[in-house]
Amino acid sequence: MKNKKGLLLKTLACFLLAAALIFTGESKAGEISPKLKIFLYNCAGPVEVNTYKGATLVMGPGQFQKAPLPPNVTFKVIHDGQWLVIKDGSEEIARQVGDHLYFYPSASDGFLKFRDHLYRGGLEVKCYNGELIVINHIDLENYLKGVLPMELGDVPSEALKAQAVAARTYALGHRKKDRPYDLTADQSSQVYGGASVENSYCSKAIEETAGQVLSYDGKLAGFALYFSSCGGATARIDDVFDADPVEYLESVYCSYSSPPENQAPVNDGNPANLPLPPAPPDAFCSGSPLFHWQVTWESSELENIIRSNLPKECFSGKLVDIKVIERSVSGRVKKLLIASEGAETVIEGDKTRKVLRFRSGDKLQWLYSSLFEIKKSGDRYIANGRGWGHGVGMCQWGALKLAETGEDYRTILGQYYPECQIVPYTTLSDEK
Ligand SMILES: [Zn+2]
Repeated sequence: MKNKKGLLLKTLACFLLAAALIFTGESKAGEISPKLKIFLYNCAGPVEVNTYKGATLVMGPGQFQKAPLPPNVTFKVIHDGQWLVIKDGSEEIARQVGDHLYFYPSASDGFLKFRDHLYRGGLEVKCYNGELIVINHIDLENYLKGVLPMELGDVPSEALKAQAVAARTYALGHRKKDRPYDLTADQSSQVYGGASVENSYCSKAIEETAGQVLSYDGKLAGFALYFSSCGGATARIDDVFDADPVEYLESVYCSYSSPPENQAPVNDGNPANLPLPPAPPDAFCSGSPLFHWQVTWESSELENIIRSNLPKECFSGKLVDIKVIERSVSGRVKKLLIASEGAETVIEGDKTRKVLRFRSGDKLQWLYSSLFEIKKSGDRYIANGRGWGHGVGMCQWGALKLAETGEDYRTILGQYYPECQIVPYTTLSDEK
């Protein structure tokens, strides 16, 4: 990762001239699909796995195979403190001393059923931290078939292909070695729904970009983040997260043109409550239902929400004031001052979304984005903002618009990941 001090906002026109993506080779799906281990579930037990159209059980230090297991039978796996016990109903069919076992579909392209979802590949049941956990062993390309439909629907294929490359890059870049699985199946990695959510148009986009990833400076561009809509400009990673700068995660306009005013007001030492900067005209993601949004709280409600999200030394007594005192170059809130009777505190970047949660149904959800302004009006606080998500990387609504206007996936990825290349992952020095 390289540090780059200058803030960079580019129009697409500039970008197309300066930073076209280079595709440096073809890839073949069958040759380049590393195995991933995806965490699905944890519980005290039992774990129930259905064999669907038939399965093999692999267990024990000698990898003993108990085959074939009949189709459409649900086996229970229990850990009794010493043994892993496998039962068919109340009948015990096998037990082992080891801490993990595997179910595999009988056919290499078959499925297993777990918690009403079908999964390709194998399911490992493992004792871990006093619980049973279930891990899906699956190759990267098939994994993506369970990820893309969770992100985008039946949209133009070039947008799907851009998403496929971004998700493939993200998956490889976020594998962790300090736990018995690479990725989780939820939003802390990428949401993965298994084979039950697959559809033909997403699978086609994955096959047409098989093995292709984003690279920067000859290495995997593993921070290839994405999100729903940016509200006009994407964010630098270090403006919203406690992270080092990343060269290919600069702030870019999600538009062919820049907004009429793009300079964030300067903090002159007497903090004003900074207004929401204007959006560029014709923002690509303006079709997003959350391109503009408003959230309203009763003062007492917001006070309670903030109190529950901050330590006592940062918030005590009544809520007195909330001000945006600094914005990043993309217009997002960089510093939010929250004043209470007993303390003042400054919340930075994307953490503001977590502190200013709002009620949605019976849940409290994060504020849609950190691109907002907030004002008091009578006994209420009103936040007006744009976009949904952290704002770093690819804007999915922007990608859709670019695809609709005829841009290909390389141009779309180039818009949001400046100066990256698209390469087969096998060519990267850190992936060999
Ligand atoms: Zn956008």
